[in-house]
Parts: sequence; structure tokens; C-alpha cells
Amino acid sequence: MDKKNIDWGNLGFGYMQTDKRYVSTWKDGAWDEGGLVDDANITMNECACVLQYAQTAFEGLKAYTTEDGKIVTFRPDLNAQRLQDSCRGLCMPVLPEEKFLDAVDQVVSANAAYVPPFGSGATLYIRPYMFGINSVIGVKPADEFQFRMFCTPVGPYFKGGVKPLTIRVSDVDRAAPHGTGNIKAGLNYAMSLRNITDAHEKGFDENMYLDPQTRTKVEETGGANFLFVTKDGTVVTPKSGSILPSITRRSLVYVAEHYLSLKVEEREIYKTELKDMAEAGLCGTAAVISPVGKIVDHGEEICLPSGMSAMGPVTQKLYDTLTGIQMGRIEAPEGWIRVIAD
Ligand SMILES: *Cc1c(COP(=O)(O)O)cnc(C)c1O
Repeated sequence: MDKKNIDWGNLGFGYMQTDKRYVSTWKDGAWDEGGLVDDANITMNECACVLQYAQTAFEGLKAYTTEDGKIVTFRPDLNAQRLQDSCRGLCMPVLPEEKFLDAVDQVVSANAAYVPPFGSGATLYIRPYMFGINSVIGVKPADEFQFRMFCTPVGPYFKGGVKPLTIRVSDVDRAAPHGTGNIKAGLNYAMSLRNITDAHEKGFDENMYLDPQTRTKVEETGGANFLFVTKDGTVVTPKSGSILPSITRRSLVYVAEHYLSLKVEEREIYKTELKDMAEAGLCGTAAVISPVGKIVDHGEEICLPSGMSAMGPVTQKLYDTLTGIQMGRIEAPEGWIRVIAD
């Protein structure tokens, strides 16, 4: 397979159009056969439900080349299931898991020339999504939907080394109690744009959202779950009904328990506990874990003992083990790695 002539190591996190994308349409109560298309543009009516009422949900996962040259994806079955949960939450039809996995195989295989080589640090980011496409003016769900999946090569997350993040405690909430925080709906991101822009303008990398009901407990950032390490070495991660269940975080929790024999607690974490934490990180597909060095709560600075120049030791072990599993250096739990090409 001839790879595209791309400077893999210098790619950022941006969109680059690749050759093929997958489309399947739901109409008259059923999914069509679905398949790959060349056209990267979508034509829809001006009154399409997605444009007027934001009826859309998405997923994000990666394909990459392992040390022994295979092209693989990591736990795509969980992305399929989470998309189903998101779609149920937004009155959209459920896409069968097998159809989702088949689409992943087709999109990655058809764009294999864009899958970055092993060692480049780059990966192929895959974006599945679904939206209501027919015209709707009175508020109600669409009855015609498109499921699509495209991919784009993205660069190494920690280009030029690991830089621990500075985050601020947000005054704005990302999700209401009993709202849509636990599904991957585009609307959760739309409402976060103003707050993240403001955070960046003020020199912060991310917003730490608190539980919207009492504003005393830690939830997550706009696009990643928190994982903390206490001073006695326990891994703790927030429990809440309005957090998006990160596949990376769930995998790290498993790795902590079963590979590193660490104690893990999923529980409510009060903001007042932050000053006692030894390490903090943000988990998501993009970076696996980005270390947090400093949390700023309205002028009060909490500096994590792990500092501003490296990952903390437990975070580093978690990162090395999970990326080792992903890259085929460490044996993966049954079913975690889906091989697309040998
Ligand atoms: C996608 C997402 C995450 C990370 O989930 P992964 O499955 O690990 O990529 C975390 N929080 C929010 C709000 C998200 O949308």
C-alpha cells in the first residue's frame, strides 16, 4: 500500500479531505444498504431538522498502525453502542452495531493510504455522526436521517513534548441535571463554544465543569473526562449522570485495576478535595491522557504536585500501558483491538 505523501509528524488536529466516506440513509422506517461515496459535501434542504433544531450526535475514534504493521481500531464496539445511546436520547433511529463496525472497516480500508505509519505519532481520526435531514419547521423529530462516517489524518497530540494543562473552574454549566450531558450530542458542544473561547482568551487551556445542581462536585471538561490520583496512589474518577462516558476513561480504569493493580474509585469528587490530589489528567481519544498541572478557581491556584513539565508517575504508567495495548506492545484484553488490515 502506497501511503500519501504527507508530513505525518507535523500534522495538527485539523480536517484533511480523504478519498472515501460512508453514507447510509434511514427512510420509511429502515436503513438502506449504505456504502462508500466520493463526494465530501452534503446537499440538504434549508429547513433540515439538523440545521433548525440541532438533531445530531457524533462519535470519535482512531485507526492507527501497530508496531507489527497492522491497521487497527480500539474498542469501536463501544463507540457503536454509545452512538445508539445518543440517538435514543435525540429521537433518532438506532444504527445496528454490525453496520457501524462494517462502516469503520470500509472507511479505513478505502482510505488506508491516509493511515499514518507506525512511529509517526499520527493517527487516522474517524468521525461517525447521524443527523435529521428532512425539512421540519414545527418542533418534532425528523423522519429521514443520514448516518455518515469520514476520516482525516491527525498529528501527534503531544507534539514537542508533554505540556501539562492549566484549567479554570467554570462559572458556566455544560449540562443540566437530567439533561443531555451523558450523550454525545452536538448541542453540548455548541453551548460550550463561548465558554472555551473565553477560557482561551484568558490563558486557560480548558474549563472544569462542576455538577450543575450544587456546583460543588467535579464533572468533566467540554470534551474529556477527569481522572485523579490521590496522595495514597488511588485512582479516582468522578461519578455523575451528566458526564459523557469516555471510552478512554473506562479503559484506563480497567488498566489501573487489572494491569497495574491500583485501587480505583468511581465516586463523587468534591471541589474541596482537589487540593489534596497528587495528579490529574484529562482522558479522551485525542490524547489518551493529558496531564493537568494547575487548576485555577477564581484566583485561587491549585498546583498539582506533578508540576508543569511532565506527567505524574501514575498518570505516566497508565498512559504507557494503555498506549502499549493500543500499539500491540502489551497484550490487550479480549475484544479491545479490531484488526482492519494485516
Ligand atoms: C467524546 C467525549 C469525551 C471522551 O470520550 P472518549 O470516548 O474517551 O473519546 C469526554 N467528554 C465529552 C464531553 C465528550 O464528548
